[in-house]
Amino acid sequence: MGIALEEGRKGGIEGNPPVGSVIVRDGEVIGIGRNRVNSDTDPTAHAEVDAIRDACRKTGSTNLSGAVCYTSMEPCPMSCWAIEAAGCEGVVLGSRHAYFRGVGKRDYDHYRVESLMELAGRSLGTLTNIKTEECNYGAPRMDCERVTSTPLRQPLPGILSLFGLCIVLSTVLNIHAEAASTEPTVSIVAENAKIVTDVATSRVRTVEVHDVPSRGACTRLLVETSDQAAAIAVLFSGGKGATRISEQGRIGRGKNNFLIRSRTLFHNNSISTAVIDAPTDQPHDLRSGFRGSVKHAKDIGAVVVHLCQTFNLPVWLISTSRGTNSVANAATYHGVIGPDGIVLTASMLVSNKKGDQVLEFPLDKITGPTLIAHHEDDACHVTPPHKVPELVARLTNARPIKTLLYRNGLAQGNPCKARHYHGFNGLEETIVRDIANWIKAPSD
Ligand SMILES: [Zn+2]
Repeated sequence: MGIALEEGRKGGIEGNPPVGSVIVRDGEVIGIGRNRVNSDTDPTAHAEVDAIRDACRKTGSTNLSGAVCYTSMEPCPMSCWAIEAAGCEGVVLGSRHAYFRGVGKRDYDHYRVESLMELAGRSLGTLTNIKTEECNYGAPRMDCERVTSTPLRQPLPGILSLFGLCIVLSTVLNIHAEAASTEPTVSIVAENAKIVTDVATSRVRTVEVHDVPSRGACTRLLVETSDQAAAIAVLFSGGKGATRISEQGRIGRGKNNFLIRSRTLFHNNSISTAVIDAPTDQPHDLRSGFRGSVKHAKDIGAVVVHLCQTFNLPVWLISTSRGTNSVANAATYHGVIGPDGIVLTASMLVSNKKGDQVLEFPLDKITGPTLIAHHEDDACHVTPPHKVPELVARLTNARPIKTLLYRNGLAQGNPCKARHYHGFNGLEETIVRDIANWIKAPSD
């Protein structure tokens, strides 16, 4: 990335946007490029394209398979596709377009390399935030550390690529591809049931398992309906986000999670809950990019619509830790119907090697009620309390908006886990009551 930055500086001196790129294969630099749009009077002479041309010349081949493109700025759609077309296996980003929103640079809206790849039915391994400070050219946000994700490139067979094209077209035409798929299924697995968790016992009217189809996959919910419910809250746990809900409504993973163990308190505060599982085509782990994907946003959108239609209640998305990425994604993706409000607890505010962080999303798109809750002593390195004001500042259009800060409670075990301050251990009753009251009457 140092070479790419240096190359970008040269381009800047020549009167171009200061972006540089390097193609590396087997530890060897095989191509170097910089933006030459103005100096060459060539609108296609972006740094990545320039580096690919250099690499192809030097290797005498148009096939750069096994190579990785290091680029100081996230590639635009044209350059991104050039990287894909050349056969590169991955791209390492110095910075993201999202960081420059609202600071006078070209606005790429919700664009991310991953979203383009997904629309095209491709998967290009992506690492972000190498040398971010230098790559951000003085843009105000992000002191990200390093690296996210790396699903390896998985080209799909031609017929599926055609399906990818259909998705692109249906997105452009604003048609929901999932409209053609089957209806949601609902099974009531218990009535008048007692739910017992570590923190409280509740009595619910029904326990239901819902399977909600979207884009050919299916997302399962464990729905527990409270009497006289004022709203239904979809609960997004952290970590891998796979709760492994069985057909009988048993939760296989994450019972200890702050929101999952506290759901009985939501019932007792007249809020029905829906614990969400990972979709059938991504069943084990939502980290490493999926939480920020278009697929995930669409799945959550389908869940919101389904719950709204089924219960005719306000639908809220309540999230904790890595779950906040899922909610930030769904609430900012313009292709899906949004929830009535969102709650972000112990928000992910630092880039990390396993996935997204909330500040990477175009948070100014969120216009509905937004509640932020954080522990002042949260000691997890990716959810630092000192970045909460930045989160609030980025939510420029969220109304009403409120921040709740907590102290004390119990700190046990790993500081990023459920029984530390990060998981509001010992504060469950207070925070759930605060959240439930705010959901019922949101105000600044
Ligand atoms: Zn470009």
